[in-house]
Amino acid sequence: MTVVVRSSRLWISAFRRAVSKRRDGLEVVQQQQQQQRASLGYAAAVREEEEDEYQEYPWANAGLEEQGRGVQWVFLGCPGVGKGTYASRLAKLLQVPHIAMGDLVRQELSYATPIAKQLKSAMSQGQLLPDEVIFRLLSKRLEHGASCGESGFILDGFPRTVNQAKTLAELAEIDMVMNLKLRDDVLVTKCLGRRICAECGGNFNLAQIQAEGSANSPPIFMPPLLPPPKCLPKMTIRADDTEEVVRTRLRLFYEESKPVEDFYRKQGKLLDFEVAGGIPETWQRLLTVLNLEEKNASQSQLRDASRKKMTA
Ligand SMILES: [Zn+2]
Repeated sequence: MTVVVRSSRLWISAFRRAVSKRRDGLEVVQQQQQQQRASLGYAAAVREEEEDEYQEYPWANAGLEEQGRGVQWVFLGCPGVGKGTYASRLAKLLQVPHIAMGDLVRQELSYATPIAKQLKSAMSQGQLLPDEVIFRLLSKRLEHGASCGESGFILDGFPRTVNQAKTLAELAEIDMVMNLKLRDDVLVTKCLGRRICAECGGNFNLAQIQAEGSANSPPIFMPPLLPPPKCLPKMTIRADDTEEVVRTRLRLFYEESKPVEDFYRKQGKLLDFEVAGGIPETWQRLLTVLNLEEKNASQSQLRDASRKKMTA
């Protein structure tokens, strides 16, 4: 027992070090801002209060990197909603790491570390991965990132439980939690349309979704993601992509994620976002909601300019 306690203290302090390295930078900026406010006097203080009203929705002011660090966001969403796609695009745009717990676990399993041993034994017994191991992986990833000058993060597939969310809150300030949603009937159709190429491993989707709108949901159109002709004869279906399994997976997911959603909703950090179209439309809507259209436009201009330079 004492061993467990001691080792979990170790990972907690490692995590704190990783996070506080980032926080130090932020504190300096905040101190400077406070001094500025004091020297500007009353008029500025009033303006400050007006601005605070806008900050009721912290995500409307996504430019936290201007305060000395990158955003610290969490992405929640059911399997099949496209969470990883949007999380990784936003991470690229905001220049923070996209940390997917599934990737960290897979990566760790490929090494012969004590953590990998713990993971394997939990997985072979069909158990949930222990929080201690999860946080160790996360702090290892963040420490490594901090040493490379990374700041902020978008967490994907984590936290899964309220307990994990509480521990995470002790260790890092979460600015915003994006909760991606998609209607059940559409999700099921999407999952049943998934195909994998047996030869190149490419992921495709044959489902053409045209769901009518109702009183509380918009109509949804999602084009299929068709394979190139050379892959077409090699299409396979994952054994667990049957309607029964998909529906069970969804039900379990909702049971598990509801308390985590409620935890963040109570703190005013949860942003529900209905996916109602293909990737290009959804991406544009996400940018609008997060107030990031300008940033995206200026980054694509930069990209275009550097492309022109390279071809010139
Ligand atoms: Zn192929």
